[in-house]
Amino acid sequence: MAKHLLSKSTYIKSLQCQKALYLHKKRPFLRDKMSAVQLAKFRRGTAVGVLARNLYPGGIDMTPKSPSQYQSKRNETLLALQNPEITAIYEAVFQYDDVLIMLDILAREGDKWRAIEVKSSRGLSETYLQDAYLQYYVLNGNGIPLVDFELIYVNEDYILKDKLILDELFISQSVLVQAKEAFEKTASQIQKAKATLQLTKSPEVSIGTHCYKPYPCDFIGHCWKNVPQNSLLYLSSQPFLQRFDWFNNNIRLPEQLHNAELADQLMALNEQKLFVNHNLLMKNLKNFDMAKPAYLKFLFHQAAVPELRGMKPYEPIILAVSAFQPSNTVQQIHHWSCAVEISEWKNIFQFLNTLWKSSSVFIIHEDRIFDEFLKKTNEIHPEIKWINYAVLLSESDFMIPSISENPDQKLIQQHIFPNQKPLKDEAWLLKDLLDDPEKNSRKINFQLELYSKNLEEIHKYLISSNEI
Ligand code: SF4
Repeated sequence: MAKHLLSKSTYIKSLQCQKALYLHKKRPFLRDKMSAVQLAKFRRGTAVGVLARNLYPGGIDMTPKSPSQYQSKRNETLLALQNPEITAIYEAVFQYDDVLIMLDILAREGDKWRAIEVKSSRGLSETYLQDAYLQYYVLNGNGIPLVDFELIYVNEDYILKDKLILDELFISQSVLVQAKEAFEKTASQIQKAKATLQLTKSPEVSIGTHCYKPYPCDFIGHCWKNVPQNSLLYLSSQPFLQRFDWFNNNIRLPEQLHNAELADQLMALNEQKLFVNHNLLMKNLKNFDMAKPAYLKFLFHQAAVPELRGMKPYEPIILAVSAFQPSNTVQQIHHWSCAVEISEWKNIFQFLNTLWKSSSVFIIHEDRIFDEFLKKTNEIHPEIKWINYAVLLSESDFMIPSISENPDQKLIQQHIFPNQKPLKDEAWLLKDLLDDPEKNSRKINFQLELYSKNLEEIHKYLISSNEI
């Protein structure tokens, strides 16, 4: 059997962009580095897939140890199908029409099979459906009789009680009917992808929203290298789709956009500076007592499968925090962590309460996931006043030349203080902490401390000049 040309991931890549497929296969050295967030998603997906096998226990695992085993595992899978004592196959390997798939679970039901693909997400996206249609296509090509094809995903309303109940944790959705309906389209998309791989040079594909949706492409560094730094695509204060709309209508540079309201931001973009409406910023800050600020940096963990009683999937748990208080006569830094014993996490409220006694406002720069935690904190300590700089900036017309709609603190730091060592990516910090909390906690504390001190520097920078 000839080696496959496409896999699930390369097929999905081809749906996003034929050029991405070509570059992935033929010019892999042009790929950007895998981001920490992508890596974390991959690890999470694998762990949930393994857990879901317990829905169909007693099966055999076909996971290849390396790509060199694909064909032997494929042969073993075909043999296992013939063995009536085998009730379930995990990572069942099939190939058809030059496409290789590994199906999470194939469970025997009489003389037919139930195909199950597991997703660690809280819902099903179009990509997941396309992924299932491809697998159905390959299973069909192998003549596997199916009672159903199910996608299972995480029930976000599940609450962990005494023990994990998988039937309640997971939600199952049949996609067999849609997969059959999509059969012809799937076949033609496979042919299109295979034709792309026969090309002698990469297909001409212009940049567009597909570079970021459904996933940020691995080749942005390569394809976007000629986008000028003052391109309107980097006018981060404007919605992503709006910026591409301008781009597609050939409105690409600040001087082409005649919009009086955005005049200051356009000028800043042209000069590669950040912009903030200083009056708005100061007005928003006036609502707070800035006499004794404490700058906090949290590291939080969202497990797809709840680890503690009473918790839901993806509910954020604070693992560590550093707080920097510059207003005291002696600058102070406080650390708190529960990474070694996660069940201690609720003590964070006690820590915050103690810290609040010597503070007038807590300042953070966190994304929306943090809101859930903040809601809980507000119930317990309604007296604590918070400023989320991410929100404050977006309410003050903040713009930093960047593709991201919500520039994170790391990006802002790099822009304002280009000579400073960049802050370490939070996803890597989280990985280090979860991998070995005892060994890595001091290192993590140090990194979080850099974040909290840097937030004070950003704040001082933004309020110190009304020219930006
Ligand atoms: S960066 Fe955009 S155009 Fe380039 S390969 Fe990726 S998706 Fe295609």
